[in-house]
Amino acid sequence: MQFKELASYFDLIEKTSSRLDMTKILAELLEKADEESIKKIVFLCQGRLGANYEKLEFGLGEKMVIEAIAKATGFTKKEIEKKFREKGDLGLVAEEFCSQKKQSALFSTELTVKKVFENLIKISQVEGTGSKELKLKLMAELFNSASGTESRFIARIPLENLRLGIGDPTIMDALAANLLDEGKQNAEWKKEIEKEMKEKKIKEKNWIDEFDRKMKLKLRERIEEKYNIYSDLGAISEILKVKRLNGLKEIQIQLGIPIRPTLAERLNSPEEIIKKLGKCAVESKYDGFRIQCHKEGKKVWIYSRQSENMTSMFPDIVKALKEEIKTEKVILEGEAIAFNELTGNFLSFQLTIQRKRKYGIEDKAKEFPLKLFVFDLMFLEGKNFMEKPFLERRKKLNEIIGKGKTISLTKTITTDKAEKLEEFFEESISKGLEGIIAKDLNAKYIAGKRKFAWIKLKRSYKGELNDSIDGVIIGYYTGKGKRTEFGLGALLTAVYSEKEDVFKSVAKIGTGLTDKNLAELEKILKKISSKKKPARVQSELEPDFWVEPKYVIEIRADEITKSPVHLAAKREGKGLALRFPRLISIRTDKKPEEATNETELKKMFAQQKQINEENQEQNY
Ligand code: AMP
Repeated sequence: MQFKELASYFDLIEKTSSRLDMTKILAELLEKADEESIKKIVFLCQGRLGANYEKLEFGLGEKMVIEAIAKATGFTKKEIEKKFREKGDLGLVAEEFCSQKKQSALFSTELTVKKVFENLIKISQVEGTGSKELKLKLMAELFNSASGTESRFIARIPLENLRLGIGDPTIMDALAANLLDEGKQNAEWKKEIEKEMKEKKIKEKNWIDEFDRKMKLKLRERIEEKYNIYSDLGAISEILKVKRLNGLKEIQIQLGIPIRPTLAERLNSPEEIIKKLGKCAVESKYDGFRIQCHKEGKKVWIYSRQSENMTSMFPDIVKALKEEIKTEKVILEGEAIAFNELTGNFLSFQLTIQRKRKYGIEDKAKEFPLKLFVFDLMFLEGKNFMEKPFLERRKKLNEIIGKGKTISLTKTITTDKAEKLEEFFEESISKGLEGIIAKDLNAKYIAGKRKFAWIKLKRSYKGELNDSIDGVIIGYYTGKGKRTEFGLGALLTAVYSEKEDVFKSVAKIGTGLTDKNLAELEKILKKISSKKKPARVQSELEPDFWVEPKYVIEIRADEITKSPVHLAAKREGKGLALRFPRLISIRTDKKPEEATNETELKKMFAQQKQINEENQEQNY
């Protein structure tokens, strides 16, 4: 496919704010894409050059993009910088200058998606001496051959700010829409949907539209199931392009490719948990970071909760997986936490997280050795264990994991008594742990979802919400007074709407930000800021600068209140908002789509209401 064609689709998508229209345009683009380009196009839509778990580092900042534009167009760096200050988006600047190049483009050729992708890959891979010049040359070569619109997107890709507003859910919806005709051939699905529609008494005139909508949903679910066990939407799109719907069957768990983690629900008391689960396993909740470990003979991969490859960061865990686990092929999950051998105490999250680093790995490994507490098993010796009940998975884990120096199993009890659960909870807290996670004995491993298979109970903070909220930064306000020096005074944050794949405002945060936080945040947010509201953001409040939803922060608040200005979970003219929100930490381990979502916020609001009512009754 010619890059010109892709750029004109991107242009259309950028101008569209309705998700439905966006999905239609994207579906058309993906249907048109040839076998050679589809994977590359999907990666570019995701703002990447490879699957989620593949590292992406362009090592090319604004300065170099400006230099490349200058080199390709003959305009001076000064002229380009001036325009950049005016527009705040290098994409638009590249578009303007590249459409009026001063020098004739001597070696200009028509750009294909393949060519652009190859140059970008090279840019992300070159290292060492002379790499800067080479990156510059490759970028200028693209601008040299690109039209205005093409340049807009070429400039934005290495800056990791494509501004298309396409999330993975939209890509999956588009893929599903393209399989509609084949879905309709599936007699079983057809029967299921028709039965559902008859029960709901869908009217004759709405029948076809509703049937198609439901079929697309079904297809989308099937695609998502596969994406959850195989984190590579590019590869999935390619398989669907070549083999159509039949290809889905071929996608299976593979060693080295991360599985999306299952997520925990929350409840407020031991009684509620027992009422919900009955007899259940109760495990200590360790406050470290979650890792997914894959082992195939002598080869080991370690992935973070966000599916980033972190193998090189944890040599101690890699060694332990090879030595302490005597199976050939296995995928398991656990929490890694720093531990003081002398005192027998767990270290705080702040100290544990210092192990996530690129440099000085060996020294930090000695200073803060990690322990891995394994809590789940997904794959063993060629067999998928995700479908098996938790009890069976745990039994198998007991067989393959002993009490190793580094690796052991999470501490657990099985009970159907709230008092026993509470006792175990108190014991965990007294050891400096975060609380407990209760687990449904019969549940499968539900990748990427929050179902009541796991329920967390954390220490409660008097007068505060029981749990923190993970919000996504969608904008910021420039500072007043002392804070002007940072150019950032408060943050506008949002929760995720999983139904609409958008981010809705929930709180404006000015407290909890230390000077160091402010300086750090301003540096990273400035790069993705704009004067235009991003496509996936919904907010009636207007910050001084909008930012692409990318960074997640942990927020504590006194309570959730109804609000006329915020849009999260809006009903009858009122949304939900956080009262006295304060920033606790920047959650680099979470993707924006993994932040607190609207449904959870509604649940927390309902739980809070219930507790308030109970308290009032007690005080009465
Ligand atoms: P939260 O991040 O508060 O939603 O809590 C869920 C997280 O707790 C998981 O993603 C794990 O990282 C962590 N965790 C700690 N201990 C356990 C355990 N025993 N079982 C499952 N998850 C655990």
